[in-house]
Amino acid sequence: MPTVLITGANRGIGLELARQYAADGWNVLATCRDPGKAAELKAVAGDVAVHRLDVDDPAGVEALAARMEGRPIDVLFNNAGINRRAPSIADIDYAAWAETMTTNVFGPIRVAWALRDNVLASDSKVMAFVSSKMGSVAENTGGSIMYRSSKSALNMAVSCLAKELAGRGAIAVLFHPGHVRTDMGGPSAPVTAPDSAAGMRRVIAGLTPQDNGAFRNFDGTPLPW
Ligand code: NDP
Repeated sequence: MPTVLITGANRGIGLELARQYAADGWNVLATCRDPGKAAELKAVAGDVAVHRLDVDDPAGVEALAARMEGRPIDVLFNNAGINRRAPSIADIDYAAWAETMTTNVFGPIRVAWALRDNVLASDSKVMAFVSSKMGSVAENTGGSIMYRSSKSALNMAVSCLAKELAGRGAIAVLFHPGHVRTDMGGPSAPVTAPDSAAGMRRVIAGLTPQDNGAFRNFDGTPLPW
């Protein structure tokens, strides 16, 4: 069976991705910052191995990559993210903005680069990145500057990564997961985590190398940059 590695798999969209891939019989490498507090993840039935990973920690990323050496990863799901709120530019906390860039931009690129040989050794060669429509300049309605700018930067960084790995058959894609009912999305968000995860999994299952570098909604619709 294929293998998926998921970051931030202990709650929200990441937990649901772990549940669904495990239910389909995949080998699930579920990573989270604190496995000791990941009771829901540990209760997921199936072939699920829980690994510690804080995407902000370069040494931790390297250690995980060393443990994974030689192991193909069909789908690398860079899902972990944070949203530090700043409604207006006057509200910017520059330390929080730096933290946001570290987790939402540097983290996923660092993880993808560290595990690129694992992905490239697999049959599917997919790197999925959970971005956000809030990173789209074309659709910007203002506000949330720290979060929006981090997802815009992630979009550009993944576009560069896609170009760099295109010759080796990689398929790097960015997703807007929908406005999802999680701790981050809030209790009245219209999309459930199961529907979001199922949608992204469906899109991934149909990807071809021509989709490398794409930015898609969770239902597969292309999104403007
Ligand atoms: P949640 O807040 O529910 O979960 C976030 C997950 O990311 C948690 O598992 C959290 O772990 C993890 N995480 C945060 N920082 C790190 C880190 N440094 N290292 C490892 N893991 C970390 O959010 P969602 O599930 O809603 O969001 C998942 C992704 O989807 C994010 O990238 C988010 O930006 C994106 N997104 C979500 C939307 C929504 O409406 N929900 C809309 C658009 C995009 P811990 O428990 O340790 O904090």
